[in-house]
Amino acid sequence: MRRLIALAVTVCLAAGALAGCAQRGSSGFAPIALLLPDKKTARYETFDRPVFEARVKELGDYDVLYANADQDAAKQQQQAESALAAGAGVLVLDPVDAKAAVTIVNSANAQGVPVIAYDRLVAGGELAFYVSFDNVHVGELQAQALVDALESRGRPAGGILMVNGSPTDSNAALFREGAERVIDGSGLRVLASYDTPDWSPDKAQEWVAGQIAQFGDAIEGVYAANDGTASGAVAALRAADASPFPIVTGQDAELTAIQRIVAGDQYMTVYKALKPQARLAAEIAVDLLHGRGVTGDLEVDGTPAVLLTPVAVTIDRIMDTVVADGFWTVADICTPD
Ligand code: BGC
Repeated sequence: MRRLIALAVTVCLAAGALAGCAQRGSSGFAPIALLLPDKKTARYETFDRPVFEARVKELGDYDVLYANADQDAAKQQQQAESALAAGAGVLVLDPVDAKAAVTIVNSANAQGVPVIAYDRLVAGGELAFYVSFDNVHVGELQAQALVDALESRGRPAGGILMVNGSPTDSNAALFREGAERVIDGSGLRVLASYDTPDWSPDKAQEWVAGQIAQFGDAIEGVYAANDGTASGAVAALRAADASPFPIVTGQDAELTAIQRIVAGDQYMTVYKALKPQARLAAEIAVDLLHGRGVTGDLEVDGTPAVLLTPVAVTIDRIMDTVVADGFWTVADICTPD
């Protein structure tokens, strides 16, 4: 046993990425591993991680092993292996790559470790729980806001660009499905569509700049799947001095996106109550650690699941959504970085 612990600690140290590497917390229970996908999107380090860790601590003296994959599926695989080697009793996994993550789920299950799919679904394997939002509805909200805003400017003569999310993220396909349903139904013309590798704001910016060179003023709106890609789109449109400024969507209610909405650079974002999502995942993880049965509100692909409700935020909804919920204060919004 002592050899195994020494080995696990060595593996942990070699991986060099697991915060709080440990075998067992003083609670006597195995640690819970939280594996998040990227740092470029603000939500993970600002809300998901701290809220999850705080809720776990409220529930008892459990240890959390935290790792962030920096958009690298191979790195996430190593982080999961290190967490398992360090004795993790539950994995809470937000996969970089839905297909590649099946291997993680299978090796966890082979060691009797249940896996919670956090925010993004894994494309197979036996999951113990799935907690996310109604992601098709996220896409519908974005596209509906875009269509309504364009119609209120008068019948669009041009069209829109679609800047979708990462092709390896299962959510990106759901956002796109919801968005396309609304856009197709509206008759709005899609000039060009792009799946942004790694959700990279820089790649989104580069792609939008290329489309501006091609379509110019015909670009009346940009469906951007999240606030990171929206920031890239806005930067490209500003650099080109686009006028009238196209309608740009987003998602996550990032502080900088709310500030862009106030400044008139971004039309909307989608507020997802990330704190309840992270808290619920922490509660389910502790239940699973204790071997308690867990139930969801529904089943998704045979997995018990809870899907929370997303809300569209335009300038007139900032106060009664993100501010009322304590997600951001007026002082946060009005204080430039
Ligand atoms: C999440 C979004 C996030 C995106 C990029 C998606 O799976 O649901 O909230 O903006 O990934 O990290």
